[in-house]
Amino acid sequence: MARVRVESLRKEYDVGTVVAVDGLDLEIGDGEFVTVVGPSGCGKTTTLRMLAGLEEPTSGRIEIGDEDVTDVHAKNRDVAMVFQNYALYPHKTVFENMAFGLRMSTDLDAEEREQRVVETAEMMDIAELLEDKPDELSGGQKQRVALGRAIVREPDLFLFDEPLSNLDAKLRTTMRAEIQRLQDELGITSVYVTHDQHEAMTMGDRIVILSDGELQQQGAPTDVYENPTNKFVGGFIGSPSMNFIDVSVEQVAGGLRLDDSDGNFSFTLSAAYATANDAALGRGRYTLGIRPESISIADSQSQNAISAGVDVVEPVGSDNFLHLDIGPEFIARVPSDVTLEAGDEITITFDESDIHLFDADSGVEVLGHDQETQPATPP
Ligand code: ATP
Repeated sequence: MARVRVESLRKEYDVGTVVAVDGLDLEIGDGEFVTVVGPSGCGKTTTLRMLAGLEEPTSGRIEIGDEDVTDVHAKNRDVAMVFQNYALYPHKTVFENMAFGLRMSTDLDAEEREQRVVETAEMMDIAELLEDKPDELSGGQKQRVALGRAIVREPDLFLFDEPLSNLDAKLRTTMRAEIQRLQDELGITSVYVTHDQHEAMTMGDRIVILSDGELQQQGAPTDVYENPTNKFVGGFIGSPSMNFIDVSVEQVAGGLRLDDSDGNFSFTLSAAYATANDAALGRGRYTLGIRPESISIADSQSQNAISAGVDVVEPVGSDNFLHLDIGPEFIARVPSDVTLEAGDEITITFDESDIHLFDADSGVEVLGHDQETQPATPP
């Protein structure tokens, strides 16, 4: 087990024309399970490969435990990696696949190696597969063997690179739970890369979000969900995505009014809210963010009722996703017993405390979910 520290980590390719990882700082606690998530090409795999020692950083520093391993070769790092494509040796049996790494990375004798492999295979429920070759196994079994091969080494650090992407949805759910259980039991520091924000949110003690090689935000999944630091994170985390509308902010008698440029949307923040958040909010242009589940259907006479046409009703069982004509990709999540159909005209509303406001230029959040809704100091 070990803590991991990454300082100003940078990786360039093609003589600096591609910056895959751009000045990454991370600190991962001993035994922590960190998920790294971001869109394709954001630098997740490159980061993981640098942690493994498979890729040399252009600059920066990596510590595992108390050791600076920046220049230490992969085979001399006590790290086990699990890949999406399993990377099993096709001509070796499951037993040999599991024992091979052990032979390379430890000085256990043959008997001790056999004992470790058999114990791990039992823990992973693959003991009956030990004499099989990889091509005799299903995808799920191959991934169990790949996990077993990593676990048997009892490394300081587990690195997972999208290990479940090749499995069907049901098996993925089972394996997610299994990996979490094993990690919890073994207490081995783990970094898990995925492009699937749901996977990242459900598995990680902490979630790290990258975009264009840069760290966008890190924190407990719920904190990141509720308080995204910028529009990118707000839109990337959560499904369906946060809705965005470009608005201007204007002082009016009752508080602060947010209007879009088409006149389709107007929402007035109360005087109390405006006063409490005055310092954060200048006058100008912002992007309003509101999550689909924060929207409710309202009486047309209620305060801040917003008219909307229903374009599509998408039933997902427990809920209906309503695609509304307020803006492109504007979705409200309502209970499935709300019966509506395409073409219906409705009114919706949401609570001002659920609004996120992002700077229109930089995308940085200026007002978030947990803002004061009462004046910070009595007027
Ligand atoms: P994905 O989810 O698609 O695997 P990723 O977030 O893991 O993406 P990386 O594979 O780390 O992203 O790639 C980050 C950037 O670096 C991309 O622009 C990619 O094209 C580039 N890159 C990665 N490896 C190399 C390489 N060997 N040579 C040149 N460019 C590379």
